[in-house]
Amino acid sequence: MADDKNQKTCKNPPCGCPATDGAKFCGPSCEGTGDIIEIDCDCGHEACSGNF
Ligand SMILES: [Zn+2]
Ligand SMILES: [Zn+2]
Repeated sequence: MADDKNQKTCKNPPCGCPATDGAKFCGPSCEGTGDIIEIDCDCGHEACSGNF
């Protein structure tokens, strides 16, 4: 949804949270997925589109 070029989103596919500046993921939860493709996201952010 937020598609600002200055705002990078989390590299975890189901996650739509903004990534921390300089990081690829929004937080440790997504960062910990590594090569595993999760269907849902467990980052815990309320606004996360992948958190079912
Ligand atoms: Zn998320
Ligand atoms: Zn994330």
